[in-house]
Amino acid sequence: MAKKSNLILPEFEPVTYDPQYILMVNQLRKYFPIKDGMLAKTVGHVKAVDGVTFNLKRGTTMGLVGESGCGKTTTGRTILRLAGEKTDGQVLFNGKEVYDMSSQEMRALRTKMQIIFQDPFSSLSPRLPISEIIGEAVKEHNLVPAAEYNDYIDQVMDNCGLQPFHKDRYPHEFSGGQRQRICIARALALNPEFVVCDEPVSALDVSIQAQIINLLKELQGEYNLTYLFISHDLSVVEHISDTVGVMYLGNLVEYGETGDIFKNPLHPYTKALFSAIPIPDPKAVRNRIVLEGSIPSPANPPQGCKFHTRCPYATERCKCEVPAQKEVEPGHYVVCHLFDE
Ligand code: SF4
Repeated sequence: MAKKSNLILPEFEPVTYDPQYILMVNQLRKYFPIKDGMLAKTVGHVKAVDGVTFNLKRGTTMGLVGESGCGKTTTGRTILRLAGEKTDGQVLFNGKEVYDMSSQEMRALRTKMQIIFQDPFSSLSPRLPISEIIGEAVKEHNLVPAAEYNDYIDQVMDNCGLQPFHKDRYPHEFSGGQRQRICIARALALNPEFVVCDEPVSALDVSIQAQIINLLKELQGEYNLTYLFISHDLSVVEHISDTVGVMYLGNLVEYGETGDIFKNPLHPYTKALFSAIPIPDPKAVRNRIVLEGSIPSPANPPQGCKFHTRCPYATERCKCEVPAQKEVEPGHYVVCHLFDE
């Protein structure tokens, strides 16, 4: 066990860079201190991300799914270094540890790693016309010569399905779908390599969701973008993702190719989650698995397997022993004692 301030953390094994991956996340932890008393003493920690490991190939999409509060968004924000210092682990972007970068290196990295938020309205300044919203960071980072700036913004807007006459309008003059296009244009204007899409279509109507998903896919094909796609909508994740990670209480419990995970979910939590996907056939019968109880607090997670309090297959061993990650078929990983040899 390693020690970090007043925290006891499991031993951490650093990984070496593998060039086939744009992003390597290894045993990433992000704990938030719980303060109490007059002196605001730390009395515990919310373990929002508790040892997440995955690798992401350039030009691919990884879907991250799980119930609200499982740590999906914090994982995305911690990778981007938007949630303060990490607690432990590694985030290698193109082989470089993101958390070892100087402020100057981070500034350059900000253009390469972008985020699209869930709520396209509150993430846009109501006081700026959209040309300025999209171009603000382009100017800040001097990405294009001044003489080419207007044409560049026109091109970015066009790529995202926005018309030149939209330039001088303000966010409140647009529909939800168009506002999300503005958010995508703002992210793409910086010419990123990696984008965290944090529930980018959850606030939109179903027909508009399809347009935005198709736009993201088109842009990915054109610019070889890599996405971490965070969503609770499993149908959308199945449509857009190459690989899928299933999170429960700060951990990945299953991870693999999208086809493998959706055709053959193995972890009891994944099975329960996927049993709730609606089938577009009124005659089809789905055996829904209803989990008992609610998700435990990440401030006081259960010992052993964190899912044992809700798992129909839990044994005494599950209550005291943390399961290890196993590769049950090539590229398909599960964290559960049921798959021990
Ligand atoms: Fe269920 Fe045990 Fe597997 Fe955890 S390790 S998912 S409690 S069977």
